[in-house]
Order: sequence, then C-alpha cells, then structure tokens
Amino acid sequence: AVVTRFAPSPTGFLHIGGARTALFNWLFARHHGGKYLLRIEDTDRARSTEPAIEAIFDGLTWLGLEGDEAPVFQFARSDRHAQVAAQMLDSGHAYRCYLTSEELAERRQKAQEERRPFRLNSEWRDAAPSTWPADKSYVVRMKAPRDGETTIEDLVQGTVTVQNVEIDDYIILRSDGTPTYMLAVVVDDNDMGVTHVLRGDDHLNNAFRQLLVIHAMNWDVPVYGHVPLIHGADGAKLSKRHGALGVDSYRDDLGILPEALFNYLLRLGWGHGDDEIITRDQAVEWFDMVGVGKAPSRFDLAKVQNLNGHYLREADDDRLAGLVLPRLEGIADANLDLLARAMPVLKVRAKDLNELAEGSAFLFAKRPLAMSEKALGLLSDEARGRLGVICERLSGLTDWTLEELEANLKAMAEELGLGLGKLAQPLRAALTGQTTSPGIFDVLVLLGREESLARIGAQAD
Ligand code: GLU
Repeated sequence: AVVTRFAPSPTGFLHIGGARTALFNWLFARHHGGKYLLRIEDTDRARSTEPAIEAIFDGLTWLGLEGDEAPVFQFARSDRHAQVAAQMLDSGHAYRCYLTSEELAERRQKAQEERRPFRLNSEWRDAAPSTWPADKSYVVRMKAPRDGETTIEDLVQGTVTVQNVEIDDYIILRSDGTPTYMLAVVVDDNDMGVTHVLRGDDHLNNAFRQLLVIHAMNWDVPVYGHVPLIHGADGAKLSKRHGALGVDSYRDDLGILPEALFNYLLRLGWGHGDDEIITRDQAVEWFDMVGVGKAPSRFDLAKVQNLNGHYLREADDDRLAGLVLPRLEGIADANLDLLARAMPVLKVRAKDLNELAEGSAFLFAKRPLAMSEKALGLLSDEARGRLGVICERLSGLTDWTLEELEANLKAMAEELGLGLGKLAQPLRAALTGQTTSPGIFDVLVLLGREESLARIGAQAD
C-alpha cells in the first residue's frame, strides 16, 4: 500500500511551496487508497520554533491536509538514528573520521588555491578500529562508493544518473553524537514505512546521498518524485518579494478561502486537461504524478484571487457571514443574520473576504452616515429635493419588498420624466454613503423600511 509523508522543517511559516508538497502527498495517498503521514523535522534545535510548528499544523488543518496518524517529531527519535549510525559503523558502511575542522579548512583552502574542486579524502575512511584514538573527538561519515554510478527513476524527473565520485562522505553523526538531518530523514522514512517520497526538487541531490544509508541497511528503496520548485512571475525562484506569503497570510490578510488555495496549488505544476475549477473529490480521482510537469510553475496571485471569487460565489452564505464578521471589528452592531442575508448580492462581485467586508460595512453604518466625496457630489440641491419626494412616496408603501420598491421607483422615474439612474444615484449615496453598492432595491430591502427612510430623510430637502 502507498504511504506518503510531508516532512516540513519548522523554521518558518508554512509557505506556499510547502503547502503544495503537502497537497501532492495527500492527493497521491488518497488517490491510491494509501496513507499520508506528517513528520516535523525539528532536528535543527536552534532554528526550530514552537510557533512555526503551530503555524504548520494550523495551515494544514485549514487546507484539510491533516495527517492520517499522529505526527512524528524527528528530534524525539535521535536515539534510534544514532543506533542506525552505530550499526553502519559496525558493518563498515560508515567510519569514524577524526579530521579536525582546522584540518578540513586547510584542505579546502588548498583545493581552492589549486583551483580544483574540494573532495574529502579522509585517511580515516579505511582505518582499522584498533587505530582509533581514544581521546579525540570524531564525526561519523558514510563511506560513499568511489566508482560506478547511481540511477534514480524519478516520477517527475525521469531517469537521473549520478557518478558515485560526486557523492561525498557526508556526516551522519556530529562530534557531539547527535544525528544529522541527512541520516534522520532516511531512518524515519524507513521506520514510518514510507513508499513514496514526493518533495521539492531541491532535495534531488540529497536522494543520492540518502540511498547510501538505504543500501547499507538493506532497506526498501522508496519511489522518488522530485517536484520543481515554484517560481515567481518573473521566472526567479519564489521569494517574499513575489508575494510568497505564509498560508496564514492568504487566509488572514488576503481573505482567501481554503478551497480556492487548494484548487490553485493543485493546478500549480499539475494539470488535468484545461480544467481550471477542480473539486477535492475530482482531484483525488484524477491526481497522479504523471501530470506533474518538469518545468517550474509560476505563481500568479491574480489567479488565486480569480479562483477565490469563484469559490466565494459557491460558498454557503452563513459560512461567509461567519468569516466576514471578524473583519468588521470595531463596527458596532455588525451581526451574522444581516450579513448572511446580504451575501448573495455582495459576493457576486467580490474577490476576497476583505472586499466582502468593505462591501457590507454600509449595512451597519451609523447615522449621520459618513459620506465619500463622490457620494456628496451626487447630492446636489436638486437631488436632495428628489430624495424628499422619494422618502414621502416610500413611506406610504404597505409592503417593503423588492417588487414593490422596484415598481414604485420605476413609476416615479417615469412620472418625473427621468431615467431610473437619476433617482438611484442620490438614493445610493444617501443609503450607503458610497457611489457603488449592490443593486439599489437590494440595498433598500436589506436595510429595511425604518433605517432606509431615516437615511434618505437625513439627506432630503
Ligand atoms: N525537511 C525538509 C524540508 O523542509 C524536507 C525533507 C524531505 O522531504 O525529505 O525541506
């Protein structure tokens, strides 16, 4: 059975590339009826933080990408990693290297002076254990083969071959006895039963090094899929400058819905024909690594926002009201009920939750309404006179319904020999303090008779 994992290092927020890696692993597991696991790679004690761990879980939960089992914390498994290192020392696949950092620096510098690439050629590689000094500190290194080549059949990159001389005798245990990340990843993947390692292609080189441990331990080789990194619109690797924000920023600052980001991330590097809108269920049904391209995908915020507009229109109005309400902080009397009733007419034009919040603020505005300059411009003496007529006429309505309001305002416009717009414009200004809003009849219905008449009356002459 398929087992995938997402293995973030909690050194920062959950960024867009990490979220996509999680998504691909989740989808691959779901598609194949397998398992998707989480591992927090917190071995870098100085850079791993609790808030980062929380941000990762938080972002994954928001996207619906929680692991199928309790997450594994890598640092807690250090003893097991050290035990594997000891085993490889015993079997001769690894060795104690007593070279000091000064000696290494010297050799590195020499190589540089002679303009040749630095290759570690440790005299400790084949030293007999009987010659190991008792009182000197050492690191444990893998014994990389010096000839031949290694090939990986990568699900995304295809056949990739590396000459073994390119693989260095990398460190698996530091001089303080702690395991390195490079060792921990392999041990954990094996112990967690991971069958498919799907991750960013910045780890492709590591795969060749990690294979040394897998072969030394006689473990099953996982299937690899190294996904191209995400680039910005200008083709350079995605960075903060491109709007590479944490997933939490898309939610909190940009007001994006999780299903929109899910759909966007899915399409970022994976395709199903020309389909733009893909539901979660369809994604599970269709997803395969074959659809993942080799070229880096380009991040495009405008596309995220367009997709978000689509999902806003699809979203349940009560849910949207619940998401918009906290964005109306400081507006007294903002309430879920009125917000939910306003959503159908507000969401048709909005791209994100902030726009929904802005668009709904007029509903809760206090009299006298703050007027935008443009709105004031619509309230000429003539217009204020008309508002007086409208106010009187509408006060007499028995039913404050969309149909009645529409019929009456249209009849008035006709009687006055004016286009409906000539009435609607000052009316909108009086009711909302703005020059744009949902349709004027919708606004009247949402505000209700009393509030509408009061607002109109306040501007009428
Ligand atoms: N912890 C690594 C990272 O965050 C991922 C390692 C892996 O997926 O093998 O880049």
